[in-house]
Amino acid sequence: MIAVRKIARGVGKIELQDVPQPHPGPGQVVIEVNSAGICGTDLHIYLDEFETRPPVTIGHELAGVIVESGRDVDAWKVGDRVTTETYFSTCGCCLDCRRGRRNLCLHRRSIGSKEEGAFAQYLLTPASNLHRVPDGLDLESAALTEPLACTVHGVLDTAGVRAGENVALTGPGPIGLLALQLVKVAGATAVMIGTRLDTQRLKLAKELGADGVINVEEVDNIVEAVGEFFGTGTADLVVECSGAAAAAKTLVDLASRGARFCQMGLYGKPITFNQDAVCYKELVVTGTNASVTSAWPKSLKLLVQKQVDASRLITHRFPLTEWDQALEVVKRKEGVKVLLKPGQD
Ligand SMILES: [Zn+2]
Ligand SMILES: [Zn+2]
Repeated sequence: MIAVRKIARGVGKIELQDVPQPHPGPGQVVIEVNSAGICGTDLHIYLDEFETRPPVTIGHELAGVIVESGRDVDAWKVGDRVTTETYFSTCGCCLDCRRGRRNLCLHRRSIGSKEEGAFAQYLLTPASNLHRVPDGLDLESAALTEPLACTVHGVLDTAGVRAGENVALTGPGPIGLLALQLVKVAGATAVMIGTRLDTQRLKLAKELGADGVINVEEVDNIVEAVGEFFGTGTADLVVECSGAAAAAKTLVDLASRGARFCQMGLYGKPITFNQDAVCYKELVVTGTNASVTSAWPKSLKLLVQKQVDASRLITHRFPLTEWDQALEVVKRKEGVKVLLKPGQD
């Protein structure tokens, strides 16, 4: 089968290769990948800003159909429509694993970076990682369960957005637009902030329910501009989804005293902003590292009930053989979510 693989550490070093088709061992299944989303992390992997264990097939957001199931897999059968959590293995011994926080395990081996990933026709995964795609949810939308689960963990579980709050978000990419929809589902007021490059994405943010959208380059005073959309009050919660240092600075300015600062985006390098504001404003900074299991059924429910519309985020589809063009689209921020469709090769 063909697969898109990081073949060595260093910038680039991604190639389409022919690799053997996997077969399941005990407790494992093989999924025929229907759709696999390109994530910001894949871009960081391209730039070698994210740890990988090459040679390895990349890609970790997917949905598909079980085509082979190993011994001791009772709960699943061939033909089941599924999506899968991304931790191929964690150590099971460290304190984080033992207190149920596998996402923080230092020895975590995730698909698409340290274990074979989803930019291939077939993916091998432990059956214990599977979640059923409900009837009524298409497999393309289901491929966005993983980024939504990360966002549910970050915005709902960790930062705890509540009805009636004012929320400012930066970065209207896939994570930002999922976060925006969660903020609206929670009943809060949401203002999405982007740059000139985000014109189309800001338009989509408005259509997805943002109370206000702002191109930061078009306003003189961002605090006043955002405040107009809030009506009363300042930001109770700010959510950084862009991974751009300037956005972090903007959000520190926008955060009210006692606000929460939720970091979703990755900068890929150290950045500087006024940390003293964390003291003076008594900001509570929350982070999020991938997802936790409990976020997956919630995400699938939000998707099938269309409380979060993933299909609106899917703008491009490419066969695996055109992975480089697909990555270019992501780099140029042309679309929102770009899918690879292995079945089309
Ligand atoms: Zn991802
Ligand atoms: Zn562990």
